[in-house]
Amino acid sequence: MKLYNTMTKRKEDLEPITPGQVNMYVCGPTVYNLIHIGNARPMIVFDTVRRYMEYRGLKVNYVSNFTDVDDKIIKAANDEGVDSSVISERYIEECKKDMEALNVRPATVHPKATEEIDGMIDMISALIDKGFAYVAEDGTVYYRTRKFKDYGKLSHKNLDDLRGGQRSLLVSGEDQKEDPLDFVLWKPKKEGEPYWESPWCEGRPGWHIECSVMSKKYLGDEIDIHAGGEDLIFPHHENEIAQSEAANDTEFAKYWMHNAFLNIDGSKMSKSAGNFFTVRDIIAKYDPQVLRFFMLSAHYRTPLNFSDEIMAQAKNGYERIVTSASNLDYLIGNAKKAAADDEERAKLDEAAKYEKAFCEAMDDDFNTADAVSAIFELVKFINSNSSGDFSKEYLEDLKRQLLTLTDVCGLIVERKEELLDADIDALIQERQAARKNRDFVRADEIRDQLTGMGIILEDTREGVKWKRA
Ligand code: AMP
Ligand code: ZN
Repeated sequence: MKLYNTMTKRKEDLEPITPGQVNMYVCGPTVYNLIHIGNARPMIVFDTVRRYMEYRGLKVNYVSNFTDVDDKIIKAANDEGVDSSVISERYIEECKKDMEALNVRPATVHPKATEEIDGMIDMISALIDKGFAYVAEDGTVYYRTRKFKDYGKLSHKNLDDLRGGQRSLLVSGEDQKEDPLDFVLWKPKKEGEPYWESPWCEGRPGWHIECSVMSKKYLGDEIDIHAGGEDLIFPHHENEIAQSEAANDTEFAKYWMHNAFLNIDGSKMSKSAGNFFTVRDIIAKYDPQVLRFFMLSAHYRTPLNFSDEIMAQAKNGYERIVTSASNLDYLIGNAKKAAADDEERAKLDEAAKYEKAFCEAMDDDFNTADAVSAIFELVKFINSNSSGDFSKEYLEDLKRQLLTLTDVCGLIVERKEELLDADIDALIQERQAARKNRDFVRADEIRDQLTGMGIILEDTREGVKWKRA
């Protein structure tokens, strides 16, 4: 398996620190509002990375945080006149609902910043003791970037240019910084803000320290993969490296993965720019699986533009896969032979080449665009090699092959549970009409189709009744 490492700007072989196990940390959302579909991109992408590594037999410890203390959360709380935890808890719950709808599996641990303050105070104290941080007069603690000789190694930035650029950006209150690139580790409370006791002042942490602390606590000083959207490379991940490597005296993460943006009309979708759709908006219009399929239709390092036309294409593509799987269900329910014969076995071997193509694509830096093409090739193969007198064993194996690949992508293609009562009633009415017209062939076909979908019909005096098997 190869993956592109932002640190080295090369594709590298995945060689976990502990063989057979991958420890990965993915920066999660700041919870002050419903998440937008741009935030959903890293969730879906790295969930798929996780699923593929598990499919390849690796044990994955996956940690993703919720930033639940931040200016925007405090502002939303003040606007509503509630405690900031009311806002963050509400949107953590809403975010979890969206993740579930998108079939993003819960992380092994979802730590929250406000529950990790003690660890942050410990790390900041260690950084002060080692000379990597200093306390300003007002109690603000800053990271001393000049002391960390590798500062800038992830973002490959020229620090002197950055320093020049940032000097003009110095905001009031930050004039106690030794260097424009120094960043806040701890800051004093302001009126109406949540705060914690600390050796320096009553206050709250800066944003970057939480990830260094949570990653260390749940995954150890050195982890395999650290990931997030590409906007996090600088300064967030650069600052995390400076904090963790100075505090722990070891490399922080072996591989750095960053997804490209989800754009709309060519610019990054973001809450602050106001050009966003929430996941909730989109899944009211499309099946959430279509949104997931859309995200995977591009390689994660390629910018992806959102539009209704592209979603319509994604809907068609996704439905082709679902239809193929449900046709197989129907055929399996009606298969007359049980065991596969030699000819069928040969076909199954032929079908297996698509799983191989799928793996080749995923091994190449998780190229889901090509992996999805391999699924389409398999669907094409299934559609032209399944109608006829095939055995149950053969058809079931084809279905297993298809579901293995769609499961790695986190796509749910089995729709039994979503078969609506209204759809069943419509089929029953059609069957009744066929019987009335003495079209018993069609009537039996519909009964078989319903049986294949797990619906059992009972002809009673009061009419046709049905139940789920
Ligand atoms: P935030 O809540 O802004 O910290 O974002 C949470 C995650 O979503 C981070 O990994 C961001 O990089 C990512 N993200 C935010 N906006 C976009 C976007 N338009 N496209 C892709 N990823 C994004
Ligand atoms: Zn982070």
